[in-house]
Amino acid sequence: MTSTELTTNTSLFIPSPASPYQGDIARYWDQEARPVNLRLGDVDGLYHHHYGLGDVDHDSLGNAGDSGYEKKLVAELHRLESAQTEVLLGQLGSPGRDDTLVDAGCGRGGSMVMAHQRFGCKVEGVTLSSKQADFANERAHQLGIDDHVRARVCNMLGTPFETGQAAASWNNESSMYVDLEDLFAEHSRVLKVGGRYVTITGCWNPRYGQPSKWVSQINAHFECNIHSRREYLRAMANNRLVPQTVIDLTPQTLPYWELRATSSLVTGIEEAFIESYKDGSFQYVLIAADRV
Ligand code: SAH
Repeated sequence: MTSTELTTNTSLFIPSPASPYQGDIARYWDQEARPVNLRLGDVDGLYHHHYGLGDVDHDSLGNAGDSGYEKKLVAELHRLESAQTEVLLGQLGSPGRDDTLVDAGCGRGGSMVMAHQRFGCKVEGVTLSSKQADFANERAHQLGIDDHVRARVCNMLGTPFETGQAAASWNNESSMYVDLEDLFAEHSRVLKVGGRYVTITGCWNPRYGQPSKWVSQINAHFECNIHSRREYLRAMANNRLVPQTVIDLTPQTLPYWELRATSSLVTGIEEAFIESYKDGSFQYVLIAADRV
């Protein structure tokens, strides 16, 4: 990855050590334009790249053959993915208006906008993709909150934030692209003592033994490296992050996947998620930790 590739008009380029792998991931997200992300974001202008949580409201959907069913289904999937963000934000404590939060791997910025709307605080996001950073900054500008919400092209393992600057930080489905020791060392540096770190992530389940064939399929599909639950807890313990809450969200995310699998928005990876959640080899977890 060269600085030329990363430089954009609106999204400040921050030099950082970048590996060839990170170049692959930047290209992946620069080219990503799946309807399952964009059409859902179009519903209300909050663009997410993560999955949903909660029960499906079947009454709101009506019958599959009805005219307008597809539109209702898109709106319902989007409601569930925004509900996922609310669950994450609910674990951040009570940030004040003067606080700064850090979104590591911010995508198109949906979680950042929701965090600002909920807490009134500043939110700084980093992503490897200049397309995503531009998109997030343009949305913040349209909403008139670009003085509070900003995305930058930057490696989350080496951010420009000052030591102890953030009251809270998170990874929303973005920790499977990095080494966890390196990641948590950087969060630990950026967080103030007493600050809060939250991740929502898929992880493989040590009880199953090793990553299942489904987990391997998911890794290949997204060019990522899913860690085990054990690795998360060990790397946190090594980096002054003490888990306060660990929630297995698997039962709450299955309805999203089962609904998505019936839609025209399928990407082909639905079976791997549903089967691995059901056979216990893969879990969707939230871990909230205190920086001590
Ligand atoms: N958190 C967002 C996006 C999740 S998609 C959401 O919930 O919608 C994964 C994101 O991780 C992408 O934006 C990708 O650019 C980012 N990412 C992966 N590796 C990264 C790294 N080393 N540094 C910064 N961002 C990274």
